[in-house]
Amino acid sequence: MIKNYRKTKILATIGPSSEKITKIEKLILSGVDAFRINCSHIADFQFKNYIENIRKVEKKLKKPIGILIDLQGPKLRIGEIENNMPLKRGQKLLLINNKKSSKPNEVPLPEEKVFKSVKVNHPIFIDDGKIKLKVLKVYKNIIETKVISEGILKSKKGINLPETVLKNSALTSADKKNVKKAIELGVDWIALSFIQSPEDIKDLRKICKKNVSIMAKIEKPTALNHINKITELADGLMIARGDLGVELPIQDVPSWQKRIIREARMQGKPVVVSTQMLESMITSKTPTRAEVSDVATAVFEGSDAVMLSAESAIGDNPELAVKMMDKIAHSVEKNPNYSSILLAQLEETPDSTPDAIATASRTLATELNSPVIVCYTESGSTGIKVSRVRPKQMILTVTPIVETARKLTLVWGVKCIVQKDANNLEEMIKMTKAYSKKEKIIKKGEKMVITAGLPLKKLGTTNLIRVIKID
Ligand code: ATP
Ligand code: MG
Ligand code: MG
Repeated sequence: MIKNYRKTKILATIGPSSEKITKIEKLILSGVDAFRINCSHIADFQFKNYIENIRKVEKKLKKPIGILIDLQGPKLRIGEIENNMPLKRGQKLLLINNKKSSKPNEVPLPEEKVFKSVKVNHPIFIDDGKIKLKVLKVYKNIIETKVISEGILKSKKGINLPETVLKNSALTSADKKNVKKAIELGVDWIALSFIQSPEDIKDLRKICKKNVSIMAKIEKPTALNHINKITELADGLMIARGDLGVELPIQDVPSWQKRIIREARMQGKPVVVSTQMLESMITSKTPTRAEVSDVATAVFEGSDAVMLSAESAIGDNPELAVKMMDKIAHSVEKNPNYSSILLAQLEETPDSTPDAIATASRTLATELNSPVIVCYTESGSTGIKVSRVRPKQMILTVTPIVETARKLTLVWGVKCIVQKDANNLEEMIKMTKAYSKKEKIIKKGEKMVITAGLPLKKLGTTNLIRVIKID
């Protein structure tokens, strides 16, 4: 078996602590499969440097690395207030459609759409939920509220409206500019923040090239109501537990994590668990027991990837955090119950030839004691279908397209190599056999299960399965 082969992928947020080329290399060698760039914390197009540095290291290490751009989305903020405003429970507070205010009972909220969408009794959270308001009355340019949880209000704090469906797209004009530039620079995944409905994904799809994958960040209760359709339209999901824990009662987040992972698993879409996974490692060299348990839980639930946020972006020990995640994932994956837990979660198989072939490849590999399932794929879909059935064997994906290999860095169990020159299936098989023997993935006498879509070099669906004995 190939050294350090891990099923669960690691996605690390890049930032001041990890942006240098030497650091990026160390992080990849410690276990990072893909990097995330958060547009919320960088100046216009600063991601160009990050992308260039990552691609340089990718070339040096000859290992496809995924890059995910995380769009800021429509994060709402209050306007400017002259002095900090202590708010007492039970008092009335007016939100006014204005940039500034100096009156004691008035807070500026320069967000016209909120005034059009909010309804009586809706909650309004300010500053990550530290302050809570309830809507009493709505006028054209004024919202009358009552303070439910008190606190000191400061200028420009973010607000959350968990029950309000805002009549705006998750895609702002700043996001659109970032998407265009990011695609030019060759990112593999685009994560869309604060989506509320399946339409938001359609809006992004319209301005994306086909080979860029879309990840839907699930962080609003309104998205949970449409989770089935959103999963269907997106290429992957991210459980963005930061804002989700503000918009929902925090104790409901673990249950939702399970449900979202289950939905993604059923539909065969990669799913990333994010936020505070090893939070204490921002400053500490070791995580808490609870954090280790949280990462392990995500792995046991069968998530495709676990994510580092501030730990790798601004933390003191990005490398240690990556190594820790790597060790936790390896430990869980070695657990004798891991595989059966994953399979028990797969309730039914979609009624399609590629899905049936994926299931058959797992059965064949198990019956024949084969160490590897090989998938030839142009778009990556054959690899993703096989990943969906979570086989014990290595999933070795071979593609002529480097962008496909990069996309698959976030997909559970898939080890992807780029193989450019094969003209037909026989040549492809010959090359794969040589590679697998060299890398000690397979030995003489063992069998290799192969799936592909024929004809090669043409986008299509998986329609072939074969068994090859290694001589
Ligand atoms: P989101 O809701 O999109 O996750 P966030 O504010 O939680 O936004 P993360 O990307 O999760 O941001 O990162 C955690 C923290 O790390 C941020 O709050 C920010 O302080 C810091 N950070 C992340 N990326 C960068 C960056 N490129 N430059 C500077 N600081 C960053
Ligand atoms: Mg967020
Ligand atoms: Mg975050």
